[in-house]
Amino acid sequence: MRNIVTGNWKSNKLWDDAEKLMIDVATGIHESQHTDIFVAPPTPYLAALKAQSTAFVGIAGQQCSAHTEGAFTGEHTASMLKSAGAKAVLIGHSERRGTFGESDAVVEAKVHHALDAGLLAIVCCGENLEERDAGQHFEKVLTQLSHAFQNIDASRMSRVVVAYEPIWAIGTGRTASAAQAQEMHAAIRHHLVGLFDASIAESMRILYGGSCKPSNALEIFMQPDVNGGLIGGASLNASDFLAIVAASNEAATKEQQGG
Ligand code: PEP
Repeated sequence: MRNIVTGNWKSNKLWDDAEKLMIDVATGIHESQHTDIFVAPPTPYLAALKAQSTAFVGIAGQQCSAHTEGAFTGEHTASMLKSAGAKAVLIGHSERRGTFGESDAVVEAKVHHALDAGLLAIVCCGENLEERDAGQHFEKVLTQLSHAFQNIDASRMSRVVVAYEPIWAIGTGRTASAAQAQEMHAAIRHHLVGLFDASIAESMRILYGGSCKPSNALEIFMQPDVNGGLIGGASLNASDFLAIVAASNEAATKEQQGG
């Protein structure tokens, strides 16, 4: 299976820097190898940065509206992202769930809109530190996914990707250990067997996110149930992001060679 590495720029970079970063990333990748690569810039830049995207580096939205088009001032729909050139969209990032109050129901609606629009839906989940310390992390994450996928037809799951992002590791410099990531990813895959079936669960890409950087990416990506990463801070620097993509390709190559 191909890995995915997606850079989430969040609300960072003014236009000149954003364009330079996109050019540096796009010109740094000349072949597809084993990783599908997306960059999720701030929405105002998305259509313009499409011009710098390539067959190997696509553009993604950081979120989409829970509504379709109409009187929703300030919102952008999944179809608009698609028509502006996006191939994928992040849904339910913990900053959207936390700071902007996105409920599980909102996340579910967005997943449907993303799929209706023909986008790859990268659905984020993750527990906070309190929940981890209380031993509630599995319950939290699996419940989030049960809600997000409750009304999705199994035939659409090939367009869905899961991103596990422990909130305590996002932007904190504190990374989940490779063992902690693998443990949760395995639990997510097992849960997907129950929600759908074994063949869908086996074929789904489950990304890790949370202070992933060149120094720890390979170890995390080498875990059997980790299929790439969602990268925040390190995606703001082209050489770091390219090194993480290289780690993903190395991990996938080793996996194909049987370890
Ligand atoms: C993220 O916000 O999706 C993320 C993984 O951020 P960081 O890599 O900075 O922890």
